[in-house]
Amino acid sequence: MNLILLGAPGAGKGTQAEVICDHLHIPAVSTGNILREAMKNGTALGVKAKSFVDAGQLVPDQIVIEIIQERLAQPDCASGFILDGFPRTVPQAEALDQIGVRIDKVIEIYVPDEKIEQRLSGRRVCPDCGASYHVDYKPTATEGVCDKCGAAVVQRKDDHPDTIRDRLRVYHEQTEPLKDYYLKTGKLVTVEGQEEVSDTTRLTLQALEA
Ligand code: ADP
Ligand code: ZN
Repeated sequence: MNLILLGAPGAGKGTQAEVICDHLHIPAVSTGNILREAMKNGTALGVKAKSFVDAGQLVPDQIVIEIIQERLAQPDCASGFILDGFPRTVPQAEALDQIGVRIDKVIEIYVPDEKIEQRLSGRRVCPDCGASYHVDYKPTATEGVCDKCGAAVVQRKDDHPDTIRDRLRVYHEQTEPLKDYYLKTGKLVTVEGQEEVSDTTRLTLQALEA
């Protein structure tokens, strides 16, 4: 099963990607996590990406398309994958088609903008393993400590209020047109993001069966 998770920043794509990953035993591929890892390690890719990511802007298509092409060629993606955060522009979606990547389903997680701002400002992430939390909605078992690997969780630089608004604008302008793109292929299913993570999970798993 080759899946795409679509939705605004903070809609909960990463959280649901982890759930589907455990459920279907296919890897979740997050371009955001790959970019942050590269930035942390100061690789050439990280250096190129940093100014865009920190400003809440999109990294140029050509760079992320190359990343994805390389990642999907790894053996663990052979029996399926969940794309979280890619494609984010119509040219990126077209590139997937051109590479010959077949997509089975696109799940959009819809959350209104007001909620998004509230969620992103409370988000915390693990810099070591990429796990994502929220101070109110999905707290770590021990405050400030990643449940999965024990590292100290942090707030992302781009989760500061001004940058959040920029990211939402970028989402509406550049990513939302993808809904039409995948609606035309009949592969789009929309799930309404719920207050409770477990409720969204139930709806997401239902959408997978549909
Ligand atoms: P969120 O969905 O919460 O915005 P991500 O972790 O998916 O967070 O992405 C963080 C940042 O990484 C984006 O704001 C952007 O700068 C960059 N990025 C991630 N994926 C892409 C992509 N497919 N195309 C361009 N930029 C990307
Ligand atoms: Zn961790």
